[in-house]
Amino acid sequence: MNGIARKLTVFFLSGIVSVPLLNAFDIVRDGAPRSRIVLPAESSLPEKLAAGELRDYAEKITGGAVPVQNAPSSDSGNIILLSGKAAESILRDWKMSPDGFCIRSGKNLYIVSPTSLGVLYGVYTLLEKYAGVRWLFPGRDGEYFTPSKTLTVPDGDFVSNPSFPDRTMQPTGGNAFAGMYGAAETWKWLARNKIHFAMIVRGEKNPKLKEGDDFLAARGGFLKPGGHETFTLSVPNSLFETHPEYFCMVNGERLPQFHPSVKIGGCTYAQVCTSHPAVIDRISDFILSRFKQGEKLHYPVQFLYGAGDNCNTWCYCDSCKKQFGNSTPDRFYYMVNKTAEKVFREKPDAELHSWIYADFRTPPEKIKPDSRIKFTFCDHGRCYTHAFNDPNCSINVHMKKLSETWEKLVGPLKIYEYYCVGAPYAPLEVTLAKDLKYYHAHGMRGYNDEIPAPDAYYAGHLANGKNGTPTRRLWQARWQQIYLASKMLWDVNLDVEKTLDEANALYFGPAFPAMKPYRKLLGQLWEGLSEHMVYGTGGVAFPGAYAMLRPDADKLVKYLDEAEKLAGNTEPYKTRIAQERTFLTNTWLNPLKELREKQKSSGTIQPAAGKIIIDGVLDEADWRNAGILGRFTTAGGKEPSVQTFVKSVFDSERLYVGFVCMEPSIDKARILVTGKDGNVWEDNGVEWMINPSGSPSNYFYFAVNSNGVLLDMELKDGVWHKEFDSGASIAVKVLKDRWIVEGAVPLKSLGASLVPGTLWKFNFCRGRRLSGGIQELSSICEGGFQGSFRTFSLGQSPLKNGSMNEVVEAKNQGAWKVPSGKLPKHWILGQSHSKTNTVGEAFLRDPILGEYELHIREGQVFQYLFEPASTPRTIRISFSAHGEKKLFVSIYRFVHEPDGDRKSKRVNRPTEGAFSVDLSPEKKNYSGTYTVKPGEQVYLAFYAPGEAFIDDVSVVPAGSN
Ligand SMILES: [Zn+2]
Ligand SMILES: [Zn+2]
Repeated sequence: MNGIARKLTVFFLSGIVSVPLLNAFDIVRDGAPRSRIVLPAESSLPEKLAAGELRDYAEKITGGAVPVQNAPSSDSGNIILLSGKAAESILRDWKMSPDGFCIRSGKNLYIVSPTSLGVLYGVYTLLEKYAGVRWLFPGRDGEYFTPSKTLTVPDGDFVSNPSFPDRTMQPTGGNAFAGMYGAAETWKWLARNKIHFAMIVRGEKNPKLKEGDDFLAARGGFLKPGGHETFTLSVPNSLFETHPEYFCMVNGERLPQFHPSVKIGGCTYAQVCTSHPAVIDRISDFILSRFKQGEKLHYPVQFLYGAGDNCNTWCYCDSCKKQFGNSTPDRFYYMVNKTAEKVFREKPDAELHSWIYADFRTPPEKIKPDSRIKFTFCDHGRCYTHAFNDPNCSINVHMKKLSETWEKLVGPLKIYEYYCVGAPYAPLEVTLAKDLKYYHAHGMRGYNDEIPAPDAYYAGHLANGKNGTPTRRLWQARWQQIYLASKMLWDVNLDVEKTLDEANALYFGPAFPAMKPYRKLLGQLWEGLSEHMVYGTGGVAFPGAYAMLRPDADKLVKYLDEAEKLAGNTEPYKTRIAQERTFLTNTWLNPLKELREKQKSSGTIQPAAGKIIIDGVLDEADWRNAGILGRFTTAGGKEPSVQTFVKSVFDSERLYVGFVCMEPSIDKARILVTGKDGNVWEDNGVEWMINPSGSPSNYFYFAVNSNGVLLDMELKDGVWHKEFDSGASIAVKVLKDRWIVEGAVPLKSLGASLVPGTLWKFNFCRGRRLSGGIQELSSICEGGFQGSFRTFSLGQSPLKNGSMNEVVEAKNQGAWKVPSGKLPKHWILGQSHSKTNTVGEAFLRDPILGEYELHIREGQVFQYLFEPASTPRTIRISFSAHGEKKLFVSIYRFVHEPDGDRKSKRVNRPTEGAFSVDLSPEKKNYSGTYTVKPGEQVYLAFYAPGEAFIDDVSVVPAGSN
């Protein structure tokens, strides 16, 4: 029965209820085989595999053994697998892609495709569609079906073509080719989910090659030589002695491709001379030899143009300079065009691909890449929190624009993704679903992702993986995304939610009712993140901890608890829920804990002993002895791609600031401002804020660009005053790999003199801005600029940890309650004034910055201040506080008196009140004085009859600030 007949049948049946349902082709009915698979002797490897898989699965599902024979033995009940010319008569009514297929069911069952791989895909689809088989992930545990005595295919034509013609996944992070068939279960999984894969043949000496041969060829494996080895294999270093002119010229010197002793720009790798005719010949000969190798091994070949990874060292011989100027992309695509020309001349049907990658990802200036080549846009550096076309993700906006520029230049692209990298556990299916819909609508021709094959061979550090997840288990941490990718690459319009629900229901079994809302919440938390997860040279920052700071995040653990109960002791569900918990703990919960406890000790800015000359060279002993003030991070505490170090010292007249900004691309610095007090914050530069008052609406602001142009302003009661002139001296020095700012700000201009022990607030920031829209903001306040501060003590104070930001674990605190389990270091819990309600703790005020306050209720907290002195001294005690009722500042006093045979004994004198303040719910600054009597050892104490939150305590000689 053909397709038209089926439609008629449906139409006809719709009116007649008593007739049995649709006719169908029975493969097996009631456990008895009703069909035979017809496989001519000359069938291809994928067709043979297709027949074998259909027979094996039919038997697994039904118990019925369907025979495979070379020819039909009657005119019905045959399952006929056809491809190529033989399939044309059936396929001519349809527009078919190479991998597409038609399942025609009637008297016989036809599974036909233009290609033999398409026939195999037809069989796998039949098993999915009509027998309910699912391959969620590699291995037996990932396979699902419900046993049934009958396997039947309803009459009619089912035609299917892939949404993306080029669908590849690339096992990485281990050797998927080691052993007899390498990662056999992964190869099987890829074929069953209709994904292509490239094989690596590292030369014909590979003894395993022949053995693995048929196994991989049957599943559509193809050879993809080239890539990062394009130059190393075609122009080997062994030629360096005889033909140095083939190699890279840097600063007048030729370099071999690997030169471990020479580092250029941090790279021990150099590309070859791409303008040399002999190099062009060698590369094109190499490409042709790889096509010949493929023919010999009966594999299809796609040659892939690439270059040595992550290396900007390209040839600057006279010829290259003349032809390409400073453009790396021109150096690369000239080579691509020239060699492709030669290859196409000899082999017009050669399939040539090229990466658009790293240092040749900006479009070439003079070369128009050959349009016969297929281009793959490698988007490392994109953000995976947000969709590729998310207009609010600044990173992806740039990436999308770049991909569109390329599209205009070379036509439809294949996109090369790195979902894998640095994504130990994230609901990436959320991002993926949006990406694939966009890619398809946009007309991209293909997609690749890197995957960790669970059955690959992992050695050394690869075995251990990252974030506590061994590489072997990384697939399990994101199997939903890989599975959904395989399904959507074939049918981009499928129902995403239904597909995922069905898969998760199988995977989590009885625990699914709790895991469904769990996965949903995980996805919502992820989608709502403003943090970017970027794969690039600076490593990967994983924002799991930040997702946990979002509302409702605490429900995740509750869902897992519920899932655990639902799964009970039933395996594999019990193990799977435990695994989810491990993933969540390692990559979301533990980083959150670290984030919250990240210690931001206030640090000290030391007085300078000598004279400091403002020349942009931080070579004075005082600079050398000064400590680094805080760690520069980007928003959310992530490592910036380049480091910044800041120091500060002071003397009686000036406060000195020194920045060291590491910068590999200072020639690309964006500088627009040339005159003082311009909008320097838009340039490549540094900024710092000095806040003696501690008030967020009153402080001093300084910005210096990498050309040394200064902007200084004062914020007075929330209003900026650009006319403020600090009289600061600034010097900037630019070195090869960094630039340095040395500045001196007169204390007079800040309206303050400095007394050792004073606490001031500061922020030190860096706005790295380079041409091409590159921008990275970092600061010692987790990337925050205006309004973000950290407290520093200017010189040593007798009081320790006045900022309260150094915390220690609380142990055995008697009647005291310590809700956070932490206390500020050096502060001691004293008398409890209530049997049940006394509280003392380090209270985390700002979880991002790790800023703590001392929280006390109905009790006293104290800290040692001074040993006895011979003369009286008056001290000023300052702090900020909020709360209710009064807060008493008292002094515990001791003297040492002679004591018989012992030298002396310490005698307690009555506690004296220094002063008290009335607290309010808003945080306010308070200060008062106290005169320490001669011969007394003293402690500073706070007593709160009600509730008090105390911060930034300083003790300085009175009259000084
Ligand atoms: Zn050259
Ligand atoms: Zn983003």
